[in-house]
Amino acid sequence: MKTLKPVNVAIVGGGWTGLAMAKEITGRTSLSVLILERGAPRKTADYVEGMDEIDYAIRVRLMQNIAEETITHRHSTRDPSVPVRQYGSFLPGSGVGGAGEHWNGNSFRFLETQFVLASHLREKFGAAHLPENLAVQDWGVTYNDLEPHYWRGEQMLGVSGKAGNIRGQKLTGGNVFEGPRASEYPLPPLKTTYAGSQFKEAVEKLGYHPYPHPAANASEVYRNPDGIVRPGCAYCGYCERFGCMIGAKAQPTNTLLPVLARRKTFTMRTGCWVRRVVHKDGHATGVQYVGANGEEVFQPADAVVLATFTLNNVRLLALSKIGAPYDPLTAKGSLGKNLTHQVGGSGTRLLFDRPLNAFMGSGALGMMIADFDGDHALDGSEGIVRGGTISLSSSGNRPITSFEAYPAGTVKARWGSEWKAASLAWRDKVSGIGFTGEHLAYRHNFMDLDPQYTDKMGDPLLRFTLDWTEHEHRQRVYAAEIQMKIAKAMGVKFDETRPVNNKYNVVQYQTTHIQGGAVMGTSPENSVVNTNLQHWNVSNLWVIGASAFPQTASGNPTLTALALTYRAADAFVAPHTGQPKKDG
Ligand SMILES: Cc1cc2nc3c(=O)[nH]c(=O)nc-3n(C[C@H](O)[C@H](O)[C@H](O)COP(=O)(O)OP(=O)(O)OC[C@H]3O[C@@H](n4cnc5c(N)ncnc54)[C@H](O)[C@@H]3O)c2cc1C
Repeated sequence: MKTLKPVNVAIVGGGWTGLAMAKEITGRTSLSVLILERGAPRKTADYVEGMDEIDYAIRVRLMQNIAEETITHRHSTRDPSVPVRQYGSFLPGSGVGGAGEHWNGNSFRFLETQFVLASHLREKFGAAHLPENLAVQDWGVTYNDLEPHYWRGEQMLGVSGKAGNIRGQKLTGGNVFEGPRASEYPLPPLKTTYAGSQFKEAVEKLGYHPYPHPAANASEVYRNPDGIVRPGCAYCGYCERFGCMIGAKAQPTNTLLPVLARRKTFTMRTGCWVRRVVHKDGHATGVQYVGANGEEVFQPADAVVLATFTLNNVRLLALSKIGAPYDPLTAKGSLGKNLTHQVGGSGTRLLFDRPLNAFMGSGALGMMIADFDGDHALDGSEGIVRGGTISLSSSGNRPITSFEAYPAGTVKARWGSEWKAASLAWRDKVSGIGFTGEHLAYRHNFMDLDPQYTDKMGDPLLRFTLDWTEHEHRQRVYAAEIQMKIAKAMGVKFDETRPVNNKYNVVQYQTTHIQGGAVMGTSPENSVVNTNLQHWNVSNLWVIGASAFPQTASGNPTLTALALTYRAADAFVAPHTGQPKKDG
């Protein structure tokens, strides 16, 4: 194996978290930072001619190639696992920028209670009234600890929104249930669509508190604190699964990469598939990877940062034999535990009597309410201990994926002239109210290495043991009633929403919000990394991203992953800040 010249810091993965960490370290110390990214290089100009729905949205051009590496799944330890061979319930990204290139831009802060969930639930409902096998944990940091880091993330991204709580003062038009924030959002909210305004009026009538989705899609021209200027959104509707052709949606390649590209201490090496973290006597000495030419390489480094998203953070730790794998029978060991997704599904289809011009939209455009988020609306009689948010999104209907939206029972078969006529008649008159709920952590949902299936290199695949429980089913039923109440108040026709108590479906796309497995905490007994995201057993190894979340909130994870990365970066640079700052 070839051994390369050492670097100070080797970061594995070039998405939001890897690039944010690299930017902090190179901006505040003189350390050399190398990012090893297994995918291709990317830049905004690549997307200029890229609004091809088949290529990007259906054939998912920007995602990880699952013929090379996938996961296996089983519902319980009693079932055999099977490899996921078609793009399914989530879509991991690949290439510089990672999934941040083709994300929607929804940028939520988590509720204050989320960070102390275990203590909070015990106190509010009593241990005896909590769901069976619950494994939720306190994070070891509080919302107040993270507030300044959330703000750093929001400024870097240029989040458009309306605050609902500034230093304790509740503000109508924002999310009045959010924790106190120090400042208003960097940008005003995006525009509101007709459907969004109807939703807003209806929920206000019902006494709820609507607010616009906080969006990393700039509502107007924005200059961030790094001097990066991005234009306002054109509402073209090509956000999710696409890179933004004008750079209005914040992406790692249009916010962080331009800053890093100017720094002499920074290097990005693409086409490098990291297979192991090399370590000895509790110290990481570097990483082993296969380069673009197929050559096995050892890259020595003084410190290693894993920023490869939840899946590969956990897998690389397991392959490198770092930390004790979780055992669901004894609940001992921490690596792989507390796997969570996000509770969604069972949206209410709204049938308008007029065209909505829904081809215009933006990835994170929408109106929502948090009146049923967390547990502030619950008293225990509902059979659930946490809820979620309810929203009407207008992310843009594209020609192919908007086809097939028609009232339930309109057509007998999903082909033929009747089906085409119904699709054409309804495609611009349909919208929906959706739910995203908290996914609690349970003892039986976890990740480990599959004993049978391997990737293209012969390394064991990551195995998911994951299923929904009665709690998630009840959350959907609870939400469906509220969704239909709002639909009625909107005065539009709608399809009845009756959630089905299904098992976890790995085939159907849900969201790419997979959390846990290398969770943070205050003790090596119950966590993989400390509250600075530093590995308990290997102190010069940092594991960043949503793998650190002990459970997931209702909101999408990226802003919180970024806030934790900034906090980790502060801890990382602290011993080095005596050195002169070197900025390219
Ligand atoms: C369609 C879609 C829509 C989304 N919308 C939202 C949203 O609205 N709001 C939100 O909060 N989140 C959203 N997300 C999720 C969001 O994109 C992720 O949370 C975020 O990108 C994670 O950043 P990351 O840096 O942790 O990981 P990633 O962005 O996944 O980056 C990890 C990188 O590591 C690389 N890598 C992996 N393994 C290796 C290895 N062995 N060697 C070298 N490199 C490796 C990968 O190629 C990848 O580039 C969405 C995701 C998708 C797919």
